[in-house]
This record gives sequence, C-alpha cells and structure tokens, in this order.
Amino acid sequence: MLERGELANSWRYERWDSLRLLTPNWQSGLPGLCYEGVDPDGYMTSADVVDLLARYAEHVQAPVRTGTNVTSLRPTRDGYRVTTSNGEIQSRTVLIASGACNLPAVPALAAELPKEVEQLTAFGYRNASQIPEGGVLVVGASATGVQLAAELRQSGRPVILSVGEHVRLPRIYRGRDVLWWMDVSGVWDQRYDEVDDLPRARRLPSPQLIGSPERTTLDLNALTAMGVELVGRWAAIRDGRALFSGGLRNMFSLADLKMERLLDVFDEWARTDGADPDVSPAERFAPTEVPRSPRLEIDLRGGEVRSIIWATGFRPDYRWLDLPVVDPKGQLRHQGGAVASPGVYALGLPVLRRRKSTFIHGIEDDAREVIDHLSGYLADNSLTSIRPGTSL
Ligand SMILES: Cc1cc2nc3c(=O)[nH]c(=O)nc-3n(C[C@H](O)[C@H](O)[C@H](O)COP(=O)(O)OP(=O)(O)OC[C@H]3O[C@@H](n4cnc5c(N)ncnc54)[C@H](O)[C@@H]3O)c2cc1C
Repeated sequence: MLERGELANSWRYERWDSLRLLTPNWQSGLPGLCYEGVDPDGYMTSADVVDLLARYAEHVQAPVRTGTNVTSLRPTRDGYRVTTSNGEIQSRTVLIASGACNLPAVPALAAELPKEVEQLTAFGYRNASQIPEGGVLVVGASATGVQLAAELRQSGRPVILSVGEHVRLPRIYRGRDVLWWMDVSGVWDQRYDEVDDLPRARRLPSPQLIGSPERTTLDLNALTAMGVELVGRWAAIRDGRALFSGGLRNMFSLADLKMERLLDVFDEWARTDGADPDVSPAERFAPTEVPRSPRLEIDLRGGEVRSIIWATGFRPDYRWLDLPVVDPKGQLRHQGGAVASPGVYALGLPVLRRRKSTFIHGIEDDAREVIDHLSGYLADNSLTSIRPGTSL
C-alpha cells in the first residue's frame, strides 16, 4: 500500500476544522472493526476518523508505505511499472484507491474574478478566522457549501449562498437518522447495474447534511432562518458582476419533490418490511422557501463581497496514470471497479458498485467483490482471457 502522505492523509490535512462525518458512528465501521464507543448516534470529527483508520491499519497489519508518492503507472509486458518517490515497483495487478476527492473542482469563471475579492476552496478553508471581515459568497449548496455558509454566518459575516442542483434531506426522519433509513430500506445497497442513469448517479451532489452533536437539519430553510441570502446558480461574470440564474422556485420544488419521493420509499419500507416499534409516524417537511426577489447579479467590485468560497465539489487526480483509462472529464473508466486495462482495479469512487461506494461503511462489500475478481485474474494462467473492462 503506497501512500504519498501519512496514514489517513485526507482526513489529517484536507478537511476544515469543524467537519464531522455525515454518517453516524454506528455506521462508520470497517470490516471487523465496529464502533464500540458510547455515542453510536454521534458523528466523528476528522481526528476521530484518523484514529479509526490508524486503529484499523494496526488491526489488519496493513503494509502501508507512507511518504511514497506514485508519480507514474505504465504497462509492461507482464504487468505494470509503478514509479514512486521511493523507487520503482513491478506488479502484475494494481488497485487504485487514491480517492475521489483529491482536488477542488472550480469553475473556469473563477479566473475572471476581480483581484480585490479573495478566493478560497473547501480544500484551503480551515475556519472563519481565515476569511476577511465583510461579505462572503459561498458557491455551491451541497454538504460542504451549506456547512461553510452556516459557519461563516455564525461568525457574524453577511453570507450569500449560490445554489445550483442540490439534494435536500432532513437529518432525522421519523425519529431516526436519515442515513439509517438509507441503510435499512436498501437504497444505499442499490447496485451500479440496477441504477437507471449511472453517469448521473455518479455525478450526484452530496446531500445537504451536517453531522452536529445537536443532530440538526441544515437545509436551505435553516440557512434562510440564520440570515443567509440565497441566489441562483452562478452562470457568468461580466464586467466584474456575478450573474446568477433565475428559476429558484423550480429548482427548489425539484429538490423538495425528490426528497419526498425518497421519504415515500422509506415509508413504503416501514409499511411492508419495517415493523420497527421505535419509528414515529410518517412526516413531511415545509417546502423550501423561495426568497421574494432573489438577486440576479452582484457587483463584485463594489466591496459588498470580500471573499468567495468555492464549494463546487471535488475531483480525482490521475495525472500520475500513464494509461488511456481516464475520460475527458477526468474520471476513471471502469466497470464496477474493473478498469479498462487488464489487472487494474479501483475502489472508493462514486457508485463504483453500490450507492454507498464512497462512504467508509461502503467499502466492505465493494472490496470483497473487486478483490475476488483481482484474485481470479492473478490465478488465471492465461492472463489474456480476462478482457479489459470486463464487468464484475
Ligand atoms: C468533505 C468530505 C466529507 C466526507 N464525509 C464523509 C462521511 O461523512 N462519511 C463517509 O463515510 N465518507 C465521507 N467522505 C468520503 C470519504 O472521504 C471517504 O469515505 C474516505 O475517506 C475515502 O477513503 P479513500 O481511501 O477511498 O480516499 P481518500 O481518503 O481520499 O484517500 C486516498 C489516499 O490516497 C493518497 N494518494 C492519492 N494519490 C496518490 C498518489 N499518486 N500516490 C500515493 N498516494 C496517493 C492520498 O494521499 C490519500 O491519503 C467525505 C469526503 C469529503 C471530501
């Protein structure tokens, strides 16, 4: 196992200070290492996740070589040549587990911003003290954006949140964590070959959730109540003015509708399979409030907005891969974890084999199947019988 930084590097160095997992403690286990602490319904801090991964590495005696950056992976006659900052390795198979979120995804219009406005991504953000006093525009209203907007608003700054397509969820539904419902109803186990529109499912933004000790819901209504101003998707920049799309009403209705459909799935499960005496009756939530006259443009040279935080998502970094397996959008081409190069596999990517593939608790089922295939590949004497990209 080659790791360019330290063990659990992303959780040590690439998260903001207040971040906690969205997934409850009872869910965030790894194969053979369940949560046994006193707060199963709480949410781990980044430090807790580092601790979990360190304990797990010890538990399974993981042969991790830290400080070993892979700079190139290229095919040879009988496998792959891996070039690292600590030398070269020849290997018949390779498992890519380098993460789905190595870099911030920032829209091209960031390059056109007036110089007087400071820009930061979720990768660079640690806490509100980094941000100059004055107005902040947070771009993106998925898990990262809603959490940073709330934190900056609580620090006393005026905050504007630019909202695009988003996934609304309550933190607690019928007395249970919404992610409990995702689990028991089977939504999270839905396989990649059962999903209607797989490319879309793989691009789906993270849900508007926060893992706080109070277990609060952090949807757009909660942000409006805190005094965050909502504007539409940032569409363009012209003469130093940010131009936002209209149509908030439609976008909000769509997110409300999708949430209700998901709650219907949970209710149906409770009716037919559930019979859990602890769940309370079905409930529905107030529609997302549409601001009376959302602003369509903001002059970025006027001093109202001092800083912009890009919470527009993350992307993987495959610049080290010298194989033709990355699509024009920078995503790895694979079928259920079998990469389009024989003997190369991947884990930990969105909906790799199931909806839960990128979550800590999602790795076990995926890993078992991918490793089975990899073992079969190694055991096969005629390696050419496994075709590139064979489905698992
Ligand atoms: C903001 C945020 C919040 C999240 N919240 C949750 C949550 O609540 N619950 C949950 O289950 N999951 C959450 N996730 C997803 C979470 O990151 C994953 O569950 C888990 O960290 C994925 O582990 P991984 O090993 O696949 O990827 P990563 O944690 O990204 O680890 C990949 C590792 O590969 C190393 N690496 C990359 N390239 C190279 C190279 N060329 N050479 C050597 N090493 C390399 C990196 O340094 C890194 O340590 C969150 C992710 C983000 C970004």
